[in-house]
Amino acid sequence: MRAGRALALNFVMANAESKSSLIMPGQSAVESPAEATPSCWSCGTMRAVHFCSACGKVQPPKPVDYFTFFGFPRKLNLDTAVLEKEFYALSRRLHPDVFGQADDRERAWSLEQSSMLNDAYRTLKDPIKRTGYLLRLEGIELEEQSKQATEKARATGELKKQVVPPDLLEEVFELNMHLEELRMQKKMGEDDPALLEEIGKAKLSLEEKHDALLSELKAEWQKWDESEDESTGRKALDKMLDVLNRRNYIRNLLRDVNEAME
Ligand SMILES: [Zn+2]
Repeated sequence: MRAGRALALNFVMANAESKSSLIMPGQSAVESPAEATPSCWSCGTMRAVHFCSACGKVQPPKPVDYFTFFGFPRKLNLDTAVLEKEFYALSRRLHPDVFGQADDRERAWSLEQSSMLNDAYRTLKDPIKRTGYLLRLEGIELEEQSKQATEKARATGELKKQVVPPDLLEEVFELNMHLEELRMQKKMGEDDPALLEEIGKAKLSLEEKHDALLSELKAEWQKWDESEDESTGRKALDKMLDVLNRRNYIRNLLRDVNEAME
């Protein structure tokens, strides 16, 4: 009796949730009791994540994060070959052509699952996006993605100021002077190869730093993936945030350099 009621409840909950099936960063990913014993809407047997393990029908999307969507643990060292294989296998099975004759609900769910699949794949395959996504899942916002900072900047009409990473202060100061000089020269129609060479060198050094930050980031991935207590994990996340913010800073700076050199 109790099992029967639970099954009926599962079905209702799954339907109610199918419209907003994705856990957004910051939202709690705690599984509700309704998801603990999922069963197929069509045949009633235990279902797999996306398809029923017995009858193969597409299931209503569950409110899960991208890692869970693929059945991965919330870890950053991710086998991208496995990710790609899973992506293509699921893409084929969820392809709209497969559901031409299917029940309306199943067709709608397959579309939803498909779009979630694409978003999840795009986010997880990219090391930087994957890291940013995990940070947001864990409640940490990147500087330039912080909604509050953006809204504040809009309200005051001020540009968001990025803090210069301390190890770059000197380099950035000098580079900005050179860029200013270059802009002046351009206005006057002058040409100074020595200045261009100087800026070119600074650009190269920044590009090297930008690339090196990826290794630094990956070292923190390792710490997060292996962390067994909350404070170790937290420390790794904070470090990742710092690395990503520095990386964004350098990327923006490089954009300025390229614009000035055009
Ligand atoms: Zn089934």
